[in-house]
Amino acid sequence: MYRTHNCGELRLEDAGTEVVMSGWIQTSNNLGHMNFVQLRDRYGITQLNFNKDDDEALLERAAELGREFVVKVEGTVRERSSKNMKIPTGEIEIQVKSMTVLNESKVPPFTIEDESDGGDELRMKYRYLDIRRNPVKESIIFRSQVALASRNYLSSKGFIEVETPFLIKSTPEGARDFVVPSRMNQGQFYALPQSPQTFKQLLMVAGMDRYFQIVKCFRDEDLRADRQPEFTQIDCEMAFVTQEDILNTFEGLTKHVFKETLGMELADFPRMQYDEAMRRFGSDKPDMRFGMEFVELNDVAKGKGFGVFDNAEMVVGICAEGQAEGYSNKDIKKLTEWMQRPQIGAKGLVYVKFLNDGSVKSSVGKFFSDEDLKAWGEKFGAKAGDMLLILSGETDKTRKQLNELRLEMGNRMGLIKEGDFKPLWVVDFPLLEWDEESERFHAMHHPFTSPKKEDEERMLTGDHETMKALRADAYDLVINGAEIGGGSIRIHDRALQARNFKLLGFTDEEAEEQFGFLMGAFEYGAPPHGGIAFGFDRLCAVLMGQTSIRDFIAFPKNNQGRDMMIDAPATIDEAQLDELGLKLNLNLKEE
Ligand code: ASP
Repeated sequence: MYRTHNCGELRLEDAGTEVVMSGWIQTSNNLGHMNFVQLRDRYGITQLNFNKDDDEALLERAAELGREFVVKVEGTVRERSSKNMKIPTGEIEIQVKSMTVLNESKVPPFTIEDESDGGDELRMKYRYLDIRRNPVKESIIFRSQVALASRNYLSSKGFIEVETPFLIKSTPEGARDFVVPSRMNQGQFYALPQSPQTFKQLLMVAGMDRYFQIVKCFRDEDLRADRQPEFTQIDCEMAFVTQEDILNTFEGLTKHVFKETLGMELADFPRMQYDEAMRRFGSDKPDMRFGMEFVELNDVAKGKGFGVFDNAEMVVGICAEGQAEGYSNKDIKKLTEWMQRPQIGAKGLVYVKFLNDGSVKSSVGKFFSDEDLKAWGEKFGAKAGDMLLILSGETDKTRKQLNELRLEMGNRMGLIKEGDFKPLWVVDFPLLEWDEESERFHAMHHPFTSPKKEDEERMLTGDHETMKALRADAYDLVINGAEIGGGSIRIHDRALQARNFKLLGFTDEEAEEQFGFLMGAFEYGAPPHGGIAFGFDRLCAVLMGQTSIRDFIAFPKNNQGRDMMIDAPATIDEAQLDELGLKLNLNLKEE
């Protein structure tokens, strides 16, 4: 027998009990006549006491234990003389009677402690050691709890979990696909799904009514802290529903998960139209944990002879409360440089400081009188001590830049409280998005998203502004400025779907070749349907107040998309290539 108890469960009441325990050596503190060893497993840490008076030979063996050795001990639980009230087992220790070393360990490349000395790459290379550390271990256990709470809720609402295939067909819309060569059909490729979108719609045609799946999705995109090439979605679809039904169901899911995992009751989620979110926050995923809303100044800032504003489509700013006295010219210069970095790309930054003595100081003081500037201040409700930060330029770009500034100032000013959660539904997204590079419209969500009923007719009128103004039954759930999920009501009518493909620049033949199976299915009694998918990794991270999703994934990839532990991707041998019919092609490329 390896154990009667784990390392996290013994308490003072258990004193006197004979126990068998197994685990890893966390630390060993050898005092010569006595050795205190901390034994660790997933459940906690228990102190082992080896004592000269009890068994000298055993004490000598204990002195040879290294960090991360795996041992089994037998002994008696007893009250500790010096207690550690920081851990649940801190009042007891095991008086060890016998010990078996089950396995030795090399010295680990970083310390297995909450604050590790290992860099990211090293931690990922030895991920199995990293997972022994509490923060990573707890994130992975938490993930399992979020999955369980989600399954329980969805199952209680009649959702059926259905698995959809991973080897599917490449489609041009969306991100880049990962592809898999077919051995049996040489020269042909499968693609790994970016999401089970078309399959879940087909399940609605198939009459499954309510589908969900906690599913891996694959997107070959450049990586950031909150992106991985393979990630997990809570993917759902429902038949015979309106947008309202979907928002209510998934607001219910979110509330349930918060309750079950954090013990937190969330109030009803506010809703905001996409246009309003862009106007007030310059973002389709505004962080609602603080205010600092945008105020537009076109009517008061233009036409006063300041060319930069006069020539701008939009003059817009935020008010940083209480910051006027604290920001020196040097600080403003630094902030301006921060805004001018290529990632943000602002041309400049105008400030107006309302100082405590009632005076006004501004970088555009030459062009505007104090009265002018005070009139701006009124629009923001600014008081003495406040500072306005103002940008100008093309509307969409300027709003995006000001969004970055708002988030930065929110952080700097400590407006974001830990443990605060502010969910928001953003609704009525545009149907289409203009892509400068390819000079054509893309689907803002995906090509299966339904336009609003009143916009169906306008869909093929051809004029650019009309296309930009089309609205979809599409929605996102945002929590604390992170996009947790998105979905839409789908097109379920063949003719409308064909019209949408045309709008997106597909020829009839292309649409038929790529999505004929879906449009074909729509001819066999497709019910009205819609759905949503939550980014599961991100949901876990946001619940735990983290920005990186990495530690919620047991075996993540690094920024180059590499698995540092198994060293993938890797080359494959000639014979394998040959079997796949790829050898010839690769050789041709080399020549
Ligand atoms: N398949 C969509 C996505 O991955 C979600 C949805 O529309 O349900 O974003």
